[in-house]
Amino acid sequence: MAVFDRLGPEYEQIVFGHDAETGLRTIIAIYSTARGPALGGTRMWKYANEDEALADALRLGKAMAYKAACADLPLGGGKAVIIGDARKDKTDDLMRAYGRQVEQLGGRYITTADVGTTVKDLDVIAETTRFVTGTSGGSGDPSPVTAHGVWHGLRAVAETAFGESGLSGKHVVVQGVGKVGSGVARRLRDEGARVTVADIDAEAARALADEIGADVVDAAEAMEVPCDVFSPCALGPVVTDKTVDSFKCRAIAGAANNQLEQPSLARALADAGILYAPDYVINAGGLINVEDELHGYNAARAHRKAESIADTLRQIFRLAEDRGILPAEAADLVAEERIREPRR
Ligand code: NAD
Repeated sequence: MAVFDRLGPEYEQIVFGHDAETGLRTIIAIYSTARGPALGGTRMWKYANEDEALADALRLGKAMAYKAACADLPLGGGKAVIIGDARKDKTDDLMRAYGRQVEQLGGRYITTADVGTTVKDLDVIAETTRFVTGTSGGSGDPSPVTAHGVWHGLRAVAETAFGESGLSGKHVVVQGVGKVGSGVARRLRDEGARVTVADIDAEAARALADEIGADVVDAAEAMEVPCDVFSPCALGPVVTDKTVDSFKCRAIAGAANNQLEQPSLARALADAGILYAPDYVINAGGLINVEDELHGYNAARAHRKAESIADTLRQIFRLAEDRGILPAEAADLVAEERIREPRR
């Protein structure tokens, strides 16, 4: 009973899977299947203990449900963790044993890649389960669709923050020029925005800047550059207690996950007059891409679906305005309502 009390009433099912032969220890947390199967990646990480692994699976599983609901996908939400060091402990046999655990859930949970798992691992997992998406024969790298969705999301941000329909003539700082950030920066340049890029990989930032005619700033200074939009496309939380007063922009909108170190920072941004596009809404293109694979992957269709992120953001900004709440709170409301009352 104590375990159920601790988890709260929200989670549908939590599976602890073990395989003595391969040393597999996995926790699959299904937050909800109200809207469809719980799709979420498998994270392999060297958690300090099982409590930490469980907490991560629960947190990430819930986040997937909210992301899928806001994107209006016919999916629930869930996530799996494998306890172990992906560099040392990962074997094909372990991945196959994990696939058997997924298979036993009969499609209530569908897995894909996350930190510590790769497309190659998914191919191995696919040997023992049908419920896997994002394999090498499937939808492939989701980053182009994520970038496409972010770029469309920026349209809704521009409308709300500046009363303009695009980013032409606006100054956007793109933090992180990896797979998604570089795509976003290129689209912005094509549209006529002034782009500044920053990356801890200074060479990558310089190469992209040369290619698209952007400015470069040192990664450590990116947050302090006066601009219209700051677009986080790097890793880790970008708005923290330490950085929250650094931003000299009117909006923060980008691909990175977990942009706010804690939810309360959304209030500090609003108080500073900065419009924040909830990260899990604007970066849903990756999930849209793997979900499309469940229907026989079609890249053009996945791109089209990702464009709806702009409308979703418009709806969220409007709801926030009408109710006098923050966009982050409005996004949670939309997600919770859709999970509670799924369309059948
Ligand atoms: P990536 O690894 O290709 O690129 C990340 C880039 O950020 C790298 O070039 C890295 O050097 C840089 N970077 C890391 N820390 C930095 C810092 N402090 N300052 C500046 N640059 C820094 O990753 P990606 O696939 O482009 O994803 C970017 C972000 O978007 C991640 O947070 C990811 O979780 C999120 N996201 C990605 C997808 C997707 O489809 N790839 C989908 C949803 C969300």
